[in-house]
Amino acid sequence: MALSYQSTRGGEKGVTASQAILRGLAEDGGLYMPSEIPALSVSMEELAGMSYQETAYAVMKPFLTDYTEEELKDCIAKAYDSKFDTEEIAPMAKAGGMYFLELFHGKTIAFKDMALSILPHLMTTAAKKNQVDREIVVLTATSGDTGKAAMAGFADVPGTRIIVFYPKGGVSRVQELQMRTQKGSNTSVVAIHGNFDDAQTGVKRLFGDQDLAKELADKGFQFSSANSINIGRLVPQIVYYVYAYAKLLAHGEITDGEPVNVTVPTGNFGNILAAYFAKRMGVPIAKLICASNENKVLYDFFSTGKYDRNREFILTTSPSMDILISSNLERLIYLSTGCDGEKTRGLMESLSRTGAYTVDSEMRAFLTDFIGGYATQDQDGEMIKTLFQKTGYLVDTHTGVAAAVYQDYRKKTGDETKTVIASTASPYKFSRSVMEAIQGPKGEVDEFELIDQMSRLSGIPIPQAVEEIRTAPVLHNRECGKDEMKKEVKDILGV
Ligand SMILES: *Cc1c(COP(=O)(O)O)cnc(C)c1O
Repeated sequence: MALSYQSTRGGEKGVTASQAILRGLAEDGGLYMPSEIPALSVSMEELAGMSYQETAYAVMKPFLTDYTEEELKDCIAKAYDSKFDTEEIAPMAKAGGMYFLELFHGKTIAFKDMALSILPHLMTTAAKKNQVDREIVVLTATSGDTGKAAMAGFADVPGTRIIVFYPKGGVSRVQELQMRTQKGSNTSVVAIHGNFDDAQTGVKRLFGDQDLAKELADKGFQFSSANSINIGRLVPQIVYYVYAYAKLLAHGEITDGEPVNVTVPTGNFGNILAAYFAKRMGVPIAKLICASNENKVLYDFFSTGKYDRNREFILTTSPSMDILISSNLERLIYLSTGCDGEKTRGLMESLSRTGAYTVDSEMRAFLTDFIGGYATQDQDGEMIKTLFQKTGYLVDTHTGVAAAVYQDYRKKTGDETKTVIASTASPYKFSRSVMEAIQGPKGEVDEFELIDQMSRLSGIPIPQAVEEIRTAPVLHNRECGKDEMKKEVKDILGV
């Protein structure tokens, strides 16, 4: 049977890849999952000789079964081009005994570019394939990085509109400026008076609002999502884990088949889930180390089997990980139940009703490849500082969390397996926190002065993405309460 998509909550089956990408979220509130996880059809040795684009085709094709070879290759060519500041697309740096897989060389200098550079192409291709004549409205909640990367991808793409909701006061200065200076007549940005979970829950609610869907359909609109709940985000993210392993092999850092660990700074659980998919496809990944900041709901989950979001939401120096409801965990839960939609739905209903659920011992046994860890803001800062002083390599606050969690894991377990750290953002995106980690409090010093200081100190050229916002005019000023998102969407769309 050809691979198709089904909802984690059992309500839909046999959905094509292009339909799943167009819809974003299943109608029953579940997330789309492939009916199987295909094995890689090329050997690691072959992959070792491939470019990023060739690897992307080899990895994505078995998932995107209803895209033709020409369609998919065209999407890949348009996505992974000179928008990235390095031909390797995802280069690897070795420092302090760790391999840093740099996923921030795209247009908005965060790892979200890896998938959001291609999602608009996958989506417009899907619209054509399915004869969609309505305008697609991409609704997106962001903890800071998805918003900009999605807008950069969808800006002025014909037949699409994009609306982004971000938590006011919950993102870095650079992140906020990047979003609020976004050009493109089809882009809108709204700051909500709430946190990321409020934004994400609000967006999911709008998706589930059948009256609204009908009203929009009458006016020629339909919703889709650029969040990592969209399978069109997850699939492109698998690529770089396959590529990383193949490059380690090509560079003689490992032997073919040698296991490696992966450590991922985690928020919505999308990036680390992609690493798990890479493992299931055949990449020899041993442990998946899930690194959290002080919002350590995932650490607690992997340690106890109980997911419990009933706790204080903490604003940290790694804001893109300030999340208490990690949406993509639902996909792993689904797999751990043996793809039981009923059971998954029960747990997710418990989560929305009581804020918690507990998995049984069989499910826990399924999860043993995952190790949870967390680092406090002080430990994060200390890691950034030590790594920089010892090696000259500068990481951002999210990557710092991952490195700190990994070092702690290594010390506690004595596990010396080579480890890839997903490096998810450029340090320039979190300039204040990074400079303060290295040099102490910066008081009233202007953000761009800190950026210039960082450049002098590290010798890393200031990325184009940062230069662009230095003088760009602010174009977006919308704000709303967390319960006013529907009204805001209707206002933006003029319905
Ligand atoms: C989004 C993001 C994360 C978290 O990734 P998830 O896929 O949501 O777990 C980590 N670091 C940075 C810089 C991000 O932008």
